[in-house]
Amino acid sequence: MAEIKFVETKNLKEKPDVSKIGFGTHFTDYMFVMDYNTAEGWHDARIVPFENISVSPANATLHYGQAIFEGIKAYRYDGGKKAVVFRATDHLKRLNNSARILDIPEVPFETVHEGLLRLINIEKDWIPKEKGQSLYIRPFIFAADEVLGVSVGKKYKLMIILSPVAAYYAHGFAPVKIMVESEYVRAVRGGLGAAKTPANYAASLHAGLIAHDKNYDQVLWLDGVERKYIEEVGSMNILFKINGEVVTPSPKLQTSILDGITHRTVMDVAKEWGVPAVERKISIDEVIQAHENGTLEEVFGSGTAAVISPVGVLEYKGKEYVIQGGKIGEFAQKMYDYIEGLHTGEIEDKFGYIEVAGEY
Ligand SMILES: *Cc1c(COP(=O)(O)O)cnc(C)c1O
Repeated sequence: MAEIKFVETKNLKEKPDVSKIGFGTHFTDYMFVMDYNTAEGWHDARIVPFENISVSPANATLHYGQAIFEGIKAYRYDGGKKAVVFRATDHLKRLNNSARILDIPEVPFETVHEGLLRLINIEKDWIPKEKGQSLYIRPFIFAADEVLGVSVGKKYKLMIILSPVAAYYAHGFAPVKIMVESEYVRAVRGGLGAAKTPANYAASLHAGLIAHDKNYDQVLWLDGVERKYIEEVGSMNILFKINGEVVTPSPKLQTSILDGITHRTVMDVAKEWGVPAVERKISIDEVIQAHENGTLEEVFGSGTAAVISPVGVLEYKGKEYVIQGGKIGEFAQKMYDYIEGLHTGEIEDKFGYIEVAGEY
């Protein structure tokens, strides 16, 4: 494993009242950085003071978007005795999977993993104390070449920055209203959907704005070819509970959706509970039909930011479908409470998700 340099600063920031800040508005004192060039590979792993970076106006990423990212969370654990990260190994493996999709050189896992844990340990006082709050970890990689010719980069930068975040549900765990998108598409088979990359977010902004104007919180994407099969919500995967069974699109069968880590957690926990849960293709027609014949018990999203997001209303082609009177489903509530318990250590981690970064 490569050596990780630490550049200390005495100039530390005042920590904000996390309950009063939005998502991703404040950043901690340090960040992890690594550089890549073709001669040296990934090199110069370092933890340095958080500061602005300078890039050329010809920076390749600004023009052509060769970039990837991750979103991970750290928590206070075991009654505040430990600082832990949730499924960091899985997230870093997915970062390398996204790297392969965008032809970015894979990062040396051991060094980045160690750098991440060390950064969290240094910054552990930034992990907020209240339940539901967390320290959001944002690793990202972008091409650093200074040339306008379109090509795969020869230089890259990896950075990991940290941001304390409030509980996602400031006013309590609440259902969202979702618009099923039948005009625009986010990603198609053979595209970038399986990578966590800014391009997929750029592709989703316009439809998101339209949905917001119509008073919906988010968009549910259908497959880009037939506009028939359910894909995902764009920052969350989607799950349905139909007639006692959890049914959800499969990132293994549908290469245009992201293989969400929270999605994997939900499937693992469902199995642990003995609740039948399958990954398969599911069409919007099947969902509407299940709503109509009364077997659609619950709809909810999964993602690191919200953890679980119950869906109260689905809109499709101008018609609104209210799910179980718009109330939070029992399974979604139980799953949310359980995963929150795994985060804080109130529920025993049988799965090996928790990685300890430091102790208080
Ligand atoms: C990050 C993300 C998700 C959620 O994945 P998690 O690993 O559960 O956080 C789902 N879809 C897309 C497109 C994403 O970028």
